[in-house]
Amino acid sequence: MSSIADNIESVTRRIQKATLAAARPEHCVTLLAVSKTRPADDIRKAFAAGQRAFGENYLSEAVAKIEELTDLPDLEWHFIGPIQSNKTRQIAEHFHWVHSVDRGKIARRLDDQRNAQHPPLNVCLQVNIDNETSKAGCAPEETTALAKTVAELPNLRLRGLMAIPDPNRNDNDIRLSFRRLAQLLDDVRQALPEYEGIDTLSMGMSADLELAIQEGATCVRIGTALFGARAPKR
Ligand SMILES: *Cc1c(COP(=O)(O)O)cnc(C)c1O
Repeated sequence: MSSIADNIESVTRRIQKATLAAARPEHCVTLLAVSKTRPADDIRKAFAAGQRAFGENYLSEAVAKIEELTDLPDLEWHFIGPIQSNKTRQIAEHFHWVHSVDRGKIARRLDDQRNAQHPPLNVCLQVNIDNETSKAGCAPEETTALAKTVAELPNLRLRGLMAIPDPNRNDNDIRLSFRRLAQLLDDVRQALPEYEGIDTLSMGMSADLELAIQEGATCVRIGTALFGARAPKR
């Protein structure tokens, strides 16, 4: 079995190769290590191999690990799971980024609950890019309005968009979903011409990171390819 350090190296190589093949600048894609369901020790191993950004989906599990790992400097924590409104306070208090804001109410609560002494919370809006019935995310046509809401909140910093395409489709359809998300990011930028730093397209996971990078991803969220298969969903 390959080690976490080996896996980080091979995923980093996949990212470099895809970036080069897409004729995009070196180092324009960051690797977010998705450590949900994984013990804090796995995060220590990834840290020792140079990884700093970690993504978590389940809040109580995440907060326990964040508190256990305060001895590691420069960790960057990203919340990437669906958000219930009674969970916003802990997200605002413990995370640097959240990728899954999908409605104004959640954005306003995160803004209220973010300590104004801290740097603003970096926010990506999650878009339900394939209009799936049971998936989190705002409707594609609501994205710009939600972006304008977030842009006005002082303790949030709008950074971009996130999506999880319907995985039960062929590569070409997944590619087209990534392409639509990239187009929506352009629409958001045009709707907010004065707002600086909207630079993030969070898309691509273990199985489709190459497609996502070809379509402009700046952040790929990788779990399985780094840490191995997860136990079945609870
Ligand atoms: C679990 C998860 C990932 C990682 O998926 P893998 O297929 O294990 O790489 C990425 N993004 C989100 C939002 C997730 O929930």
